[in-house]
Amino acid sequence: MLYTTRKLSGKKNIALVAHDHLKKKLLNWCKRNREELSRHNLCATGTTGTLIKKEIGLNIIPMLSGPMGGDQQIGALIAEGKIDILIFFWDPLNAVPHDPDVKALLRVSTVWNIPVATNQATANALIQSSIFTGEVEIDIPDYQGYLAERTK
Ligand code: PGA
Repeated sequence: MLYTTRKLSGKKNIALVAHDHLKKKLLNWCKRNREELSRHNLCATGTTGTLIKKEIGLNIIPMLSGPMGGDQQIGALIAEGKIDILIFFWDPLNAVPHDPDVKALLRVSTVWNIPVATNQATANALIQSSIFTGEVEIDIPDYQGYLAERTK
């Protein structure tokens, strides 16, 4: 696989997702980091986003609810290079009906090499780092090269 780079600007496109038992934790995290989060473009799965909007007052675009396809919508945006950071408080202790979508979301985030936090400690580290506030370059698959290789 050949790689190229993608520049993430200071103002990030951030996706937020929390499974039901972790929603309170993510809401508290958003409350603590409200000021920093308000400087970026935010989207989330349906329930998570609606709660963040209602309880924290952050401007956020809610997708469909996770079990109804919201994780897949976010995954598609990641594949299109439209999401820069994923904050995903997934639940390691309870089964969810859309487990394949959860795996797919984590997989596509790794394919496209975006910074991902899957727990609070990493979310804290990420939001305090220059990745969150500054311009950064990430390596991504060279899609045109990949396609050219497969179609020659
Ligand atoms: P929700 O979806 O925000 O609609 O609850 C999250 C998820 O379970 O992926």
